[in-house]
Amino acid sequence: MEIAIIAHDGKKAEMVQFLNQHSDILQQKSITLISTGTTGEKVNKAGLEVHALLSGPLGGDAQIAARVAEGKCNMVLFFRDPLDRHPHEPDILMLMRLCDVHNVPLATNPATAELLIKAI
Ligand code: PGA
Repeated sequence: MEIAIIAHDGKKAEMVQFLNQHSDILQQKSITLISTGTTGEKVNKAGLEVHALLSGPLGGDAQIAARVAEGKCNMVLFFRDPLDRHPHEPDILMLMRLCDVHNVPLATNPATAELLIKAI
């Protein structure tokens, strides 16, 4: 199972904390974590192994969206910051749209992510 991790700048600390809290589940051998670039750097520094793609504004969200469309990515945990502006908003919308097109679970806040993790 491949899970994508993305957090906007204002939510990165919360994402690291969330992943640490659920590291027992997320470090299972059957789970591969991928992420956008800067999120991945922070998560790796915190000690959890994640394969970082490009940074979000440089195409990282689009790369994850492509993996969703190809059936390679099975879940997306995306802590969005609704109070900030993002230059790559079109990519973000594309990712969320493709999750809906392909019926891939997408959590856009910690409360929903918690429910998804518990369902694994
Ligand atoms: P980042 O990208 O992890 O490279 O900061 C996240 C995003 O989509 O904004």
